[in-house]
Amino acid sequence: MNIFKSVDSIRSSCLACRQNGRTIALVPTMGYLHSGHLSLIEMARKVADIVIVSIYVNPAQFGPGEDLSRYPRDPERDIELCRNSAVDMVFMPDDAEIYLSGHSVFVNEDVMSKVLCGRTRPVHFKGVLTIVAKLFNIIQPDFAVFGQKDAQQARLIQKMVADLNIPVSIILAPIVRDVDGLALSSRNVYLSAEERERALAIHRALFSALALYRSGERDTGKLKNHVLNIIEHSQPNLIDYIEILDNERFVDVKTITSTALLAVAVKYGKTRLIDNISLSPAEGME
Ligand code: AMP
Repeated sequence: MNIFKSVDSIRSSCLACRQNGRTIALVPTMGYLHSGHLSLIEMARKVADIVIVSIYVNPAQFGPGEDLSRYPRDPERDIELCRNSAVDMVFMPDDAEIYLSGHSVFVNEDVMSKVLCGRTRPVHFKGVLTIVAKLFNIIQPDFAVFGQKDAQQARLIQKMVADLNIPVSIILAPIVRDVDGLALSSRNVYLSAEERERALAIHRALFSALALYRSGERDTGKLKNHVLNIIEHSQPNLIDYIEILDNERFVDVKTITSTALLAVAVKYGKTRLIDNISLSPAEGME
């Protein structure tokens, strides 16, 4: 496994791969890898000859007062995990390599980036789309794998690729959860044992709403209230949002007629957790 720190060096290695007719799958991450990330790597392995993992905590996607400086990092452990997962290349640039002085061009999306997390994190998706576009230009992968855990991010990347004609296939990977149901996230280390226990309400609420939906409830007001009651009971420090949106266009729906996304953002202590579930009929139903 090769580790690259510079844009030029990984670029020439990728070029050599392509000239040899080998396909490349990219898995962009911010490191502090967990089984969710590893599931993306496994998917990448299935579709391409070469798997590249990028590990970069992108300052542009953190707003003022967010957790950039304390974001968990453990590059040695990440490298070991990548090595054990048969990753071919790791790209670990530093800030100066990615944002040259005077960097002033960013990628913005004007519609779907404004809802859900975009409301409380106004610069977040501009930072995400910019770094992902840069990684696509540096690596020029055939495939890139993203987690459904960050559903809005994944949808925006699909939209960017479509709108800007970027020649890469986006693959979505399902949410990996801990045995108790909490969606894996690098940020879970911030939670105290007591906060973590309370946070399990998120998973309970989402799956309970799915059951209600599958028993025939289509009114999103009632479904959102159901989620709200369960989450409120866990005494969260803040409920940022509980929304049900059209899965493709990310607009509010009142009555569910096709697959919808139920998404929540909730704070326990100072830690903001996001999670979501697709409201769609079970196989063989409807
Ligand atoms: P991050 O390092 O948090 O920026 O995440 C990198 C990639 O891993 C993103 O595409 C995330 O959606 C994905 N990811 C993070 N947590 C999970 C999870 N629990 N299950 C599946 N994918 C995940």
